[in-house]
Amino acid sequence: MKSLFSKPATAMYPVIKNDFFPNTRGNIQLDTNLCIFCGICSKRCPTGAIEVNKSDLKWEIDRTRCIVCNFCVEVCPKKCLTTQQQYTAPMTDIAGRIATSYKRDVNLGRS
Ligand code: SF4
Ligand code: SF4
Repeated sequence: MKSLFSKPATAMYPVIKNDFFPNTRGNIQLDTNLCIFCGICSKRCPTGAIEVNKSDLKWEIDRTRCIVCNFCVEVCPKKCLTTQQQYTAPMTDIAGRIATSYKRDVNLGRS
């Protein structure tokens, strides 16, 4: 009976977003201006979530594989990886899984 007249215990995520806890590890972000595409992060990632292609200057992360262990952030020699307090949007199908993989084309040293 009490629950009929009390506020809901859950929020309508993702429509209503909660505040992040102070130590939340949201998801991995890359500063492409600092990355040298050495591939260390990819080799050390325990889930194989990162792919680095040095010849194409591409760095890609599959967020469905990433467990936000922070290991890539710790081993990166250029300190260009960070964890941001933001969650990856929910996915409902295989097409969505591919579409939300993180990918950047980088033109390092070119304008
Ligand atoms: S370890 Fe750092 S510098 Fe090397 S490819 Fe990964 S993000 Fe780039
Ligand atoms: S946080 Fe962990 S699982 Fe995610 S990409 Fe980095 S090393 Fe891989």
